[in-house]
Amino acid sequence: MNLTNKVLLGLVLGIVAGGVLNGLDNAWLNTNIVDGVFYAGGKLFVNALKMLVVPLVIFSLIPGVFAIGDIKLLGKVGTKSIALYIATTAIAIATAISLAAIMGIGEGGTPPQDIDFAGRSAGASTLDILIGIVPTNIFKAFASGDMLAIIFFSIFFGIAALSIKEETKETINFIEQMNKIVMKMVEMVMWFAPYAVFCLLGKAIADVGIDLIADLIGYFSVVVIALLFHAFVTQMIILKAFTGLNLRLFLSKIRSAQIFAFSTASSGATIPVTLRTVQNRLGVDRAISSFSVPFGATINMDGTAIMQGVATVFIANLYGIELGMQGYAIVVLTAVLASIGTAAVPSVGLVMLTLVFEQVNLPVAAIGLIMGVDRLLDMTRTAVNVTGDTVVTSIVAKSEGKMDLDTFNDPDAGHLEEIHINNG
Ligand code: ASP
Repeated sequence: MNLTNKVLLGLVLGIVAGGVLNGLDNAWLNTNIVDGVFYAGGKLFVNALKMLVVPLVIFSLIPGVFAIGDIKLLGKVGTKSIALYIATTAIAIATAISLAAIMGIGEGGTPPQDIDFAGRSAGASTLDILIGIVPTNIFKAFASGDMLAIIFFSIFFGIAALSIKEETKETINFIEQMNKIVMKMVEMVMWFAPYAVFCLLGKAIADVGIDLIADLIGYFSVVVIALLFHAFVTQMIILKAFTGLNLRLFLSKIRSAQIFAFSTASSGATIPVTLRTVQNRLGVDRAISSFSVPFGATINMDGTAIMQGVATVFIANLYGIELGMQGYAIVVLTAVLASIGTAAVPSVGLVMLTLVFEQVNLPVAAIGLIMGVDRLLDMTRTAVNVTGDTVVTSIVAKSEGKMDLDTFNDPDAGHLEEIHINNG
């Protein structure tokens, strides 16, 4: 059985185990299995992935820029990616708002009075986030995993190295070798993926409050429908229109990245897997992917925008507040802007929602209402976020002639192999 199938099996078994534990609701099992073994197993794996993100981005982006060898092309690739990331997010939230409005979710309900949600600050303003792309201290940016700053520094470093090409070849060679080592580390970590995914899913499902979902079934199902529609219809139409690629092959190849995103609920932690997928499985040139993937993980959040669109309609309807076309236009704009520079970590979408609600004067405390069911939705929307990253990366790569179609068309390309450590 190949690794992807093993991971899939881990996912299914994890859901079953989590469901059983949820049903049993036994204190001993909850403490020792759910919050013990499952928690530790999942956390160790996510930690290991996160540990590799910063070195991976730096070591692949610098030689990537060096390999493009053309600063103009770099600008073109950057502009295209940003435009596509923003456009797809705007389409996502517009779809979500329309669907939620048509379904009339929340209409005629009674808003509860005693909700416990203080509303966390959404942090820095968009302008400050943009300014923060140029870090004052690069080590601080490395340490806090500040992706936009790390991307900026690496590109800058690559361009400088390129401008004195003859003298910097050895340094780039060294970085290239570092990249190979870190990539190998990713593969070694992935070896544990089936067990880790089992633990992550087991814990997530065991923790889900089934009764909470039943209460919010309208909201919950509209978010899920909008997410599935965006990932499997809208994004696929866009991909087909721009690239003509075989969609079934594409979907089968990105499946492991989707599963990782779903299990970890973090596009950031999934970066190593996404990068590996687009490079080794889809055949995207590293010059494009090493920029576009971490960038997308940070600024591209189609799934998150969808949740925000549905939540806005739901709460507005529930409280009988009329937002009107103008209000919804503000929601789209704020959500798209808020998705830029917001950390790709679990449940950050709810924090960003605070910002959206404030813009259109919806009661921020109402977010407390939907918080209980957010974990499962977070997992699902993160998978959609990562799908968007692979779609945009493929479109940009294909349009620049930087996609190896032989690799793409080979169903087995980039499959993980057994690891042999040869110390002889
Ligand atoms: N967990 C999501 C991500 O990392 C962000 C969110 O919607 O909360 O992509």
